[in-house]
Formats: sequence, structure tokens, C-alpha cells
Amino acid sequence: QNKEQAALLKLYADSAKLYQHVLLNTEAGESALKYLHQRGLDDDTIKTFGIGFAPPKQLLLDFFQEHQIDYQLLRQSGLFIENQAGELRDRFVNRVLFPIKDASGRVIAFSGRILKKSPDEPKYLNSPETKLFNKRSVLFNFDLARGAIRQHKSVVLFEGFMDVIAAYRAGIQNGVASMGTSLTNEQIYMLERVTDQLYICYDSDMPGQKATDRALKLLNGNSRLQLGVVQMPDGMDPDEYLRSAGAEKFTQVFEDGKQTPTAFEMQYLRRDLNLQNTQDQLTYIAAVLTQLSRLTSNVEQDLYLNQLVQEFGLDKGDLRQQLRSVTGQQT
Ligand code: ATP
Ligand code: MN
Ligand code: MN
Ligand code: MN
Repeated sequence: QNKEQAALLKLYADSAKLYQHVLLNTEAGESALKYLHQRGLDDDTIKTFGIGFAPPKQLLLDFFQEHQIDYQLLRQSGLFIENQAGELRDRFVNRVLFPIKDASGRVIAFSGRILKKSPDEPKYLNSPETKLFNKRSVLFNFDLARGAIRQHKSVVLFEGFMDVIAAYRAGIQNGVASMGTSLTNEQIYMLERVTDQLYICYDSDMPGQKATDRALKLLNGNSRLQLGVVQMPDGMDPDEYLRSAGAEKFTQVFEDGKQTPTAFEMQYLRRDLNLQNTQDQLTYIAAVLTQLSRLTSNVEQDLYLNQLVQEFGLDKGDLRQQLRSVTGQQT
């Protein structure tokens, strides 16, 4: 059993090495290298994250067969796709590969990005689950970020690999990403063991905001982590914003743009409402009061009540009274 795991780890380590060699040192890797350079990654960053390239022509199968690797091991590795006749071929072809590592930095899976948008292929293709890889309990970059998380006493949760890498380049090195799915309890548990402050920095487009709302609800119910939200301007993701605005403005968003979960929710609740319309105003105010009723801090409640007073010209006493009745309904 343990022997098998060691053999699989060796396969992944060798594959990662080979894929990176193709990217950095061969003609087959030129277009991918150019693609990464255009996205702002220099060779140091590529090496730090172990990024590689699976060329259009399959590579891994021949390599491992030449090295006489056991067929059953290859089958179980997730690195190949098997047809009905039991023949293997490389799973990853013509994709930039991001190694997924466990907490001690050992490669246990890959995620591969296509170079050019295509309607019939997914943008990212992940390794399947294997004896090494359980995607619910893996966070991209957790191995590299752990020191910085402890040092900053906080972790930043991003949506995508490129966002983690962008932040890293800009000096924000306590970033991780869940594996393209919603956050899991296993991932929350990993983070709770190293910090008590989590910032969610998902894409600021509508899917990203929805995911932020969902993650906040999950975290509120299932963790003791203190929460905050950071959102890039204009619907961008962190990688896009870094490239368009530069590192200084990017890091400034992290310094000045941290929102409380309630501030985020108050803005998110408005998304489909027209606040010139009285009906929508009432809907909004009721929804905000429901949010506020869950806060334990009176001071924080007061802060947001003041905002409602300001924005809608309401009487604070009336609002307080309504808030008390909402709170009463819940207990
Ligand atoms: P890029 O900047 O390379 O275009 P992104 O990270 O901005 O990618 P999004 O569309 O915002 O991509 O998706 C966020 C994350 O969700 C990705 O990093 C990836 O982990 C995951 N993801 C996106 N598309 C897919 C897919 N088709 N299959 C699996 N995972 C995906
Ligand atoms: Mn997105
Ligand atoms: Mn994105
Ligand atoms: Mn992106």
C-alpha cells in the first residue's frame, strides 16, 4: 500500500519535471512559454510554481514505458485515459500544467489550461481523484503559503490558480485557492489550523460574488474563522486587475478595500434591486435588517443602521425597533 503510494508520488514528481523541461527547454514548449510570458509570468515564477507544458503530441506514455513502469501503476495514476481495449494515452495534451501539491509540497495532481479558448473543450482540466488526490482536501498553494499565512496571521482565498500566482508576484504570498469548486469543510479545517482570519478574494464578476455569498454562509456556520471580503474593481478577477492596474494599486486594494461580511452582503443584496423604487427599498431594508439581526456586536449594528438612516432618510428609532422585532422572530 505504502509502496504503491510512493510509486505514484514518484510518477507525479517525474511527470512534473518532464513537463517543466518541455516548457522551458524545448521547441514544443515555445508557444506555451510565450503564452505565460504574455500573462506576466517570468521564468522564476514558472519555476516557483513548477508550471509545465503537455505538448500536442503525447509524451508521458512513451517516457514511462521506456522506463518500464508497471502498467497497473500507470492505469491507477490518473495521468492517462484508458480506452475500451485497455490502451492508455496521455490525459493532458496541449495544455499548460499547474501542479497541485499536498501540504508538504509533493505533486499529487495537475490542472491543465488550454492555450486558446475552444467551445468543445473545458478551459481547465483536472486530474481525476486517485489514491493521492482527494480534491475536497486540497488547497492550491497551501504548501508555499503556509509560512506567510502564519506570519500575516491571515489567509486570502482566491478562485483561480492565476489569481494566487498574480497575488504572489505582487507580494501577497498568503494566498490559496480551492480547486475550482466551492469551499469544503476539509479545506476550512486545514485553514483553521494555521490562522484565524480569512479574506475571500473571489472574482468580482457576478459568479464570483455569488460564490462569495455562498462561502460566507458556509464559513459562518462551520468555522470560527474571522471573515473579510476583498473585491477587485469593475468585475475583474485579481489577475486581470493586477495586469491592468499594476502591483501598487493591486496591493492597495488589499490595504484599503477590506470589507466586513455585512458590508459585502449589503452591497450584494442590492444587485437585482432598483433602489429608486419604493417596493425595492422596502425589500432591501428588510433584507439588511435580517442580516444585521445575526450580528452579535451592537456597535457594528449601529454602524450599518446609521448608513440606512443616511441613505433613506429614516428614523433610527424606527429602524432599531424593527430590528428588535426581526431578532425576536428568530429566537
Ligand atoms: P484564466 O485566468 O486562466 O482564464 P480563471 O482562474 O480566471 O482562469 P475562472 O473562469 O474565473 O478562471 O474560473 C476560476 C477557477 O475555476 C479556475 O482557476 C479553475 O480552477 C476553475 N475552473 C474554471 N473552469 C473550469 C473547468 N472548465 N473545469 C474545471 N475547473 C474549472
Ligand atoms: Mn471566475
Ligand atoms: Mn477568474
Ligand atoms: Mn483569470
